[in-house]
Amino acid sequence: MAQLMPAAFVGHGSPMNAIEHNRYTDAWATFGTSMPAPKAVLVVSAHWYVNITAVTAMHVPRTIHDFYGFPQELFDVQYPAHGDPHVAERIVDLVRPTYVGLDEDSWGIDHGTWSVLVHMFPKADVPVLQLSINAELPFEYHFNLGVQLHALREEGILILGSGNVVHNLRLIDWNSPGQGADWAQRFDTDVRALMTSDASELGKANTHDDFRMAVPTPDHFLPLAYVAGLAAAANTPTRTLVDGYEMGSLSMTAYELPAA
Ligand code: ZN
Repeated sequence: MAQLMPAAFVGHGSPMNAIEHNRYTDAWATFGTSMPAPKAVLVVSAHWYVNITAVTAMHVPRTIHDFYGFPQELFDVQYPAHGDPHVAERIVDLVRPTYVGLDEDSWGIDHGTWSVLVHMFPKADVPVLQLSINAELPFEYHFNLGVQLHALREEGILILGSGNVVHNLRLIDWNSPGQGADWAQRFDTDVRALMTSDASELGKANTHDDFRMAVPTPDHFLPLAYVAGLAAAANTPTRTLVDGYEMGSLSMTAYELPAA
């Protein structure tokens, strides 16, 4: 049987994590050194949430600074990784008849991706592709697409979901660094019980009592559906890479699907 590259879901939190060093970024960095160099990394980022499924297919994707009100130092960050158009075409073929468009000039590498990769692969020497999240389609579509992407793990490609299990910016409490509200902890804990036992059951989270508070919009949650799909395809539970809460309404939990 072919070697399987690991996969992971990362709670990326504030863009400031790109230029800070803390126990979350340390865990991302350690994860990056835990594997042989991937052929490429495919990232499903919360910040490419559009009305189509597409994969970046440019040779040199641009670094996108898709936020406002942060220090200049953050706008100065560049992540000069190359793309890999051949891998993009492979993904289009792999998931047929599901349609994935080739994006040659629209997107690039957004902060959901580079704020993590600057720690995970600081040399930017692994080609990077992003897969958009189709906002028109339900949870099951994203989970099933994750299942379909499983073969990439046998081809040396690292797959990352980048979002946050709990992400409610309207309820941010700046006086609660390192803390999670009761409802945030309940949701995160129950999601963890699913992800670390049978990730194919992650859809149950959609009817959780705290779902609407934890997931006011699907963008940061859906990257987890892809990793749950990958876990289901491998028949392997995920394990917690790092966890924690920030500002009451963010969970920073990251999950790893180990190499096999
Ligand atoms: Zn984000």
